[in-house]
Amino acid sequence: MEKLMSRILQDGDIHLGGVLKVDTFINHQIDPVLMYDCAAELLERFSNRKFNKILTIESSGIAPAILAGYIAKLPVVFAKKAKPVCMGQAYSATIHSFTKDNDYNVMISEELLSADDHILFIDDFLAYGDAALGVIDICRQAGATIEGMGFLIEKKFQNGRYAIGKSDASVKVESLAIIESHLGF
Ligand code: 5GP
Repeated sequence: MEKLMSRILQDGDIHLGGVLKVDTFINHQIDPVLMYDCAAELLERFSNRKFNKILTIESSGIAPAILAGYIAKLPVVFAKKAKPVCMGQAYSATIHSFTKDNDYNVMISEELLSADDHILFIDDFLAYGDAALGVIDICRQAGATIEGMGFLIEKKFQNGRYAIGKSDASVKVESLAIIESHLGF
């Protein structure tokens, strides 16, 4: 997606260890018009799949996911990183964050995900694929079907797409901006 790629080239900043800083339009300050366009493009790319719910992980996936939900008029569920006292039984998975170099749990209430659900997952980045694998795990626990996984930015050199395919070959993966190599950025 031309618009996102040129914004990355203009305002993105590559850090040691292959971390791309996009704090001025995705991760800290958010450009809602760009996020809207990204959400619309992701929906277009998954228009051949039928889904009834959009899933993401807090916090940076929420902006594009909620705009996709707004356009498609579908509910948006975000996996929480901390369990509120009022949450009942929940599906959960442990995810390794390479940007923070730690493990964290994500959970989704059993009330919000079931075997009837067909899911479009949306997130800001696809790197090694750990977050995506956590979501695949949670959906398996619920018996939900993942129709697709859409990302704003994929860092191809970290092979997340391969990790997803190895875990579930039926999941369609789409990314709007693909960074081929951290050297080439
Ligand atoms: P993965 O689980 O695929 O290794 O990484 C995906 C998650 O890590 C994303 O949800 C995102 O929050 C974070 N992440 C991965 N790579 C980057 C990056 O280069 N820049 C930023 N800002 N976040 C990243």
